Amino acid sequence: MKKNNYHNSSVNIESGNKFQGDTAIGENAQIIKNTHIVDNSKNYEVDADDVTFLKKVSPYLINNYGKEKVGIIAAISLIASIITILSLVNPVISGEKAIPFLPTIPQDYNTLVIGIFFILILIGVTFLNAVYYHSSTKCKKCNQDFAYEPFGKVKVRDIDTVDGTRRTTTKTYKCKFCGDIDKRTTNTLIEKEN
Ligand SMILES: [Zn+2]
Repeated sequence: MKKNNYHNSSVNIESGNKFQGDTAIGENAQIIKNTHIVDNSKNYEVDADDVTFLKKVSPYLINNYGKEKVGIIAAISLIASIITILSLVNPVISGEKAIPFLPTIPQDYNTLVIGIFFILILIGVTFLNAVYYHSSTKCKKCNQDFAYEPFGKVKVRDIDTVDGTRRTTTKTYKCKFCGDIDKRTTNTLIEKEN
């Protein structure tokens, strides 16, 4: 690889960087700009998620009906909600039925159908979250159900890159039975708007 005079070290900061040593001046200028922003990453803390609702609802649903049933109801509700909303917009898409195998709902029933759609979405999302909450709060150490609770603030680190902002979020949970600490990190890319 040919060496150049434009801050070679900066090229190595991001692995998988396609800029090589012998790139044109313009592209190198871009790397230097990018590196400069990387050095100025923003670190801050936000409040932990509010789990008050799920903390009550999830144990109730899981303990009464079992995880499998709650999951099945969630899936059925979400599929039914999609069918409901597609049936509602079915005649609107074109002059004819856009999706032939779905029913066409008369306009008089629009309000009722929208109401049913929101109820189904609400049940689907709540039941799905209840299952997820049950899985994510089981202690890895003492194996107790509904054990992990948010502990302290959520740490966020934002790094601006040419693609957008790379956000690293670290959430901390503590087991209310044995005190085990569980740190969970997620990475997301918030893409730049064109
Ligand atoms: Zn524990």
